[in-house]
Amino acid sequence: MKINIASVLKNEGASMNFSGSVELGKTKFMGSTLDFEKPLEVVGNVLNIGGTIEIRAEIKGSYVTQCSRCGDDVRESLFAELFESIAGDFSDADEECVSIQGTVMDIGGAVDACIFNSIPLQFLCSEECKGLCHVCGINLNKNKCNCEDEVYDPRFAIFRNLSKEV
Ligand SMILES: [Zn+2]
Ligand SMILES: [Zn+2]
Repeated sequence: MKINIASVLKNEGASMNFSGSVELGKTKFMGSTLDFEKPLEVVGNVLNIGGTIEIRAEIKGSYVTQCSRCGDDVRESLFAELFESIAGDFSDADEECVSIQGTVMDIGGAVDACIFNSIPLQFLCSEECKGLCHVCGINLNKNKCNCEDEVYDPRFAIFRNLSKEV
């Protein structure tokens, strides 16, 4: 995401607002597939303060992914706040997150990092999601199966033995 910040670079104390969007489409992340159906909105401000360039932005959007328990689609909203500062000789700074070439600043790396830092590692369609039956694989939120009756749970064995001794 490139922004011409000529007016900010020239004058100490100057600031400017900017807005833009980032398109990520379908992305793999930590074993999940994230589908960013619409571009993410980026709204921010660049400030030249005492020779340091400060960049603040808010990133908003949503994506569709899958419930970690049952695999159903889940829509998650995304909100992330970005803060970066470049001190010293930034005239030709080329850092990983923010680079300035001439008067054009590119914050693409910082925006991407900020987005992915705000994404959780697990998703649930609901706190009460029952997940899939570990025997037959049926979605227990939508269907019932009789597997639980048939499967012997070894965790209860100890209680059965105890009650025999009493
Ligand atoms: Zn679920
Ligand atoms: Zn089952």
